[in-house]
Amino acid sequence: MDLEEFNKKVKGKEALIWDFDGTIVKLNLDWVKLKQELLEKLEKSEEFKKKQTSPSSLSDILYELIRSGKKKEAFTIMNKHEKNSNYSVNHTITGCIKQNAKKYGMVIFSDNMKDTLIKILKDLDMLHLFEIIVSKEDVERFKPDTDGIKLICRRLKGKDKNKILLIGDSWKDEKVANDFKIDFFKIDPW
Ligand SMILES: [Mg+2]
Repeated sequence: MDLEEFNKKVKGKEALIWDFDGTIVKLNLDWVKLKQELLEKLEKSEEFKKKQTSPSSLSDILYELIRSGKKKEAFTIMNKHEKNSNYSVNHTITGCIKQNAKKYGMVIFSDNMKDTLIKILKDLDMLHLFEIIVSKEDVERFKPDTDGIKLICRRLKGKDKNKILLIGDSWKDEKVANDFKIDFFKIDPW
């Protein structure tokens, strides 16, 4: 992370919204296996059997499962995979968050499951640094939808959008920021 660029971007901000996976830590998830297991669950649903095509992205598979009334089963599978995954830590980022936690309101906006976020943030002794944590279970539509960021802004009690910075590693985070018209700081792959 280019700290100099980051320091420029945070100037005048009051709340920093952090993506989780790929930004603060990197989960070592077997995405292929996870998708396969979710698809198998979907293909068993009666409603889905009538359809001709299969969704290909993880989000689309999840949306279909939710539409078929299988949200609980889908989230159980997600939880199992995330729980069994180890992770590496971006120490530059964790250091930066710890150092700045008193200066800014710190928020997590993640497509990961709540249990995963809580467990890892506890491991890192960082859970107490975040005033808001929005996880996959908290939204109807996942990133790059703006559902989550809208929820965060409501919880920030209508804080001026100019005072908010979103920090993340993926095009989805960037699209959320662009669509919602807030500043964005991109984390390079690491
Ligand atoms: Mg990410």
